[in-house]
Amino acid sequence: MSNTLYDALFAPHADRSDPFLYLADGRIISHADFAAVAAQFAHVLTGAGLNPGDRLAVQVEKSPEALAIYAGAVQAGVIFLPLNTAYTTDELEYFIENSGARMLICDPAKADALGPLARAQGADLHTLGADGTGSLTDAAKAQPTAFDTVARADDDLAAFLYTSGTTGRSKGAMLSHANLLSNAQALRDLWRFTKDDVLLHALPIFHTHGLFVASNVTLLAGGAMIFLPKFDLDRIIAELPRATSMMGVPTFYTRLLDDDRFDRNLVANMRLFTSGSAPLLAETHHRFENRTGHRILERYGMTETNMNTSNPYDGERRAGTVGFPLPGVELKITDPETGKTLPQGEVGLIEVRGPNVFQGYWQMPEKTAAELREDGFFITGDLGQIDAGGYVSIVGRDKDLIISGGYNIYPKEIEVVLDQQPGVLESAVIGVPHDDFGETPLAVLVPSGGAPPDTDAIADTVKEKLARYKHPSGYRVIDELPRNTMGKVQKNILRDRFADPG
Ligand code: ATP
Ligand code: MG
Repeated sequence: MSNTLYDALFAPHADRSDPFLYLADGRIISHADFAAVAAQFAHVLTGAGLNPGDRLAVQVEKSPEALAIYAGAVQAGVIFLPLNTAYTTDELEYFIENSGARMLICDPAKADALGPLARAQGADLHTLGADGTGSLTDAAKAQPTAFDTVARADDDLAAFLYTSGTTGRSKGAMLSHANLLSNAQALRDLWRFTKDDVLLHALPIFHTHGLFVASNVTLLAGGAMIFLPKFDLDRIIAELPRATSMMGVPTFYTRLLDDDRFDRNLVANMRLFTSGSAPLLAETHHRFENRTGHRILERYGMTETNMNTSNPYDGERRAGTVGFPLPGVELKITDPETGKTLPQGEVGLIEVRGPNVFQGYWQMPEKTAAELREDGFFITGDLGQIDAGGYVSIVGRDKDLIISGGYNIYPKEIEVVLDQQPGVLESAVIGVPHDDFGETPLAVLVPSGGAPPDTDAIADTVKEKLARYKHPSGYRVIDELPRNTMGKVQKNILRDRFADPG
């Protein structure tokens, strides 16, 4: 019987005794050992009465066992639903209820708080700690280490992945086996992943970046991972020499660059650094190249689609852009009002179509209808443009666009100027209500630590560099920007906080 995702990612390695996961404590888990644990977990799931298509909600710390739950769920035909470890009990209630999960696996420390919630939902509760112990592993020990893979076709759902909730309430994106596999294939080929790769993995595995981009690509290629619980600078520096590749969010790279130990010698064995989930500043890209000789490969994607674009492996990796649509993915820039494709070079909504595009939002038919067109194009909500060479760049989110007196203002354009000013570490520009103009830009600055930013001087500089309608109506200095657990700036929180332009 065939199971689209299991057969491609996991089954081919089930008998291999060579390393799959290198752990921070020195332990090494072979491919075969991993597959055996996954099979035991699959038995626990089916033994508890979970049927193909049922949802399994998982909120556990990153560990080899946590990844094996994913493999076991795929093998058992159960829909895997990983949840951000930062979510509180209150927040979890939404996800458990919304998804109708049949089982919840959580950290042992949370079992008391989550037990009633799971019971109210009629879901079983199992525990798994960061050290791999808990009721799940206890139950699994008695199970056989082989499992008859449940048949699953291309269109069957493999995972519900909730969006990061940067712009509002998280939405459950339904991803099919073929959605996930097609993207892993495209990325493996484009980024040249092979059996010989050792990926330095320090991303969370409840998000598309660490779970599907990093893990699926490595699994499909048959490579290994240095599997770290989180980004720990010393640990990363210690592991880099034996890695061949690393996938990161931009802050990984800025933090590495802030450390003198990070140099050319340390990365002599590396062939590829990729970046995504948030914009990589061109400045970071250039500093990284000067320090290491490597050009970070930036790509663009989201929960609903996995990856859509990537800079080339060979050829120019253009700083400040996210490269070209992946093979098999169509991308167009459309007018937000009319939906019509805009001429090359103009800024508009990024729409994508391809085998990677999700099946819709779970139990949100209106949202699905509003964002997923009948012809298959998904309206990403990101604004972008395509340059003459075909490179796509992200201008910002449609929801963050400021319309002032009829003019479109892209916050990023102002932020780029602000970020270069003395005393400014970073900035966020948001729209705040204005009697005449409807909205007006407000600049929120984070000081870099030395002398506080001189906002009058900054305002003067901005006046020289940008058209009048883009001049912020006010400047606010705050200690840090609100970010969600994926490091994304939450402008809706800033908008609420500064709604009164003062
Ligand atoms: P929500 O949809 O719940 O508001 P979210 O969009 O932040 O949250 P994700 O799916 O995790 O949830 O993030 C996808 C978004 O991340 C993209 O739509 C885009 O705005 C941003 N993003 C991803 N990669 C890049 C990149 N390389 N450059 C700029 N932005 C990026
Ligand atoms: Mg989104």
